[in-house]
Amino acid sequence: MRPLAYIGGMSIRPILLHPDPRLKAVAKPVTAFDESLRRLAEDMLETMYEAPGIGLAAPQVGVMSRLIVMDCSRDDEPRRPLALANPEIAWRSEETGPYEEGCLSIPDHFAEVVRPKAVEVTWIDLEGKAQRERFEGLWAVCVQHEIDHLNGKLFIDYLGTIKRGVITRKMEKLKRDLAREKPHPKGHEAAQL
Ligand SMILES: [Zn+2]
Repeated sequence: MRPLAYIGGMSIRPILLHPDPRLKAVAKPVTAFDESLRRLAEDMLETMYEAPGIGLAAPQVGVMSRLIVMDCSRDDEPRRPLALANPEIAWRSEETGPYEEGCLSIPDHFAEVVRPKAVEVTWIDLEGKAQRERFEGLWAVCVQHEIDHLNGKLFIDYLGTIKRGVITRKMEKLKRDLAREKPHPKGHEAAQL
């Protein structure tokens, strides 16, 4: 897929924080492959890079469409911004592995999630063309995490009830503090997806 053209006029959109009903809802398929979809994808990439994160799903910016963006390239590699509309996992490896996941909607919380190590994903690109690719390593983790977002599933849903409850209560407190405009500590140690 060719790189997205950065024409300018992109904007950073606010990222919804857990808990939020929009993060628990199932997103609707993309049906129009038009300028507004490209603008949304560009805004999402800009928002993701700025955060910084390696993946972002449309519901995280309050748009209930099945669109995700990601770029898991290492710092010493060229950027590879990807935008995937209507992504589906067509194949999963039997081999699974753990990864310490984070999420831009659950800042500063990380937990190990076990997922298939490799997946093949089909999607429609921004020009409306069907694509299929095998993802491994961090790319595989990221694409599965982002597709979960389209189905209203968060990485904390893989954790036990108690651990999930602790994180959710801390997030509720963070949101109350933010509403009172208290600064919150930054400093992420792992990739946030
Ligand atoms: Zn996430």
